[in-house]
Amino acid sequence: MRKLLFQSLLQAPLTEPAPVADEAALAELAGQVDRAARRRLGRSLAIREIDAGSCNGCELEIHALNNSFYDLERFGIRFVASPRHADVLLVTGPVTKNMREALQRTYDATPAPKWVVAVGDCAADGGMFAKSYACAGGVSAVLPVDLHIGGCPPRPVALLKGLLALLQSAAVGNSS
Ligand code: SF4
Repeated sequence: MRKLLFQSLLQAPLTEPAPVADEAALAELAGQVDRAARRRLGRSLAIREIDAGSCNGCELEIHALNNSFYDLERFGIRFVASPRHADVLLVTGPVTKNMREALQRTYDATPAPKWVVAVGDCAADGGMFAKSYACAGGVSAVLPVDLHIGGCPPRPVALLKGLLALLQSAAVGNSS
């Protein structure tokens, strides 16, 4: 025990170096998302995150948008606690059979205009869980999906780029 303690004092931490902060690029991207949301909605964007059955890897990246590094709220983009306050449903994971009805109800409770963004490879088609008896499929098996952001998991910047593409796309203007 004493040897282990001594070793841990001498060894360097086994962690990856922090990513290089590109504050200007992040600010520009988040600012673009906010401006696009204001053009579309007349206000900033409200996002409701739904875990429909993910391994939580995608959630870690989504939560990172709110940490002190990305700090998305400073640009006015908010995660909300209720679908009734949301513009975008950010859905992760394969949809499990247990979550299918809850996901549908959440969608029904979201006022129009509303957009569904499927986040991560599992959200596309069930990913590595597709063959599970508990899996109902990707998000599009339950809801109309406006955008899919791929990756396992997608990084926070990819999430921001996806939101920007969603707001800028012509299809957004036609969504209900
Ligand atoms: S895409 Fe990857 S990180 Fe996201 S839920 Fe699936 S396995 Fe987990």
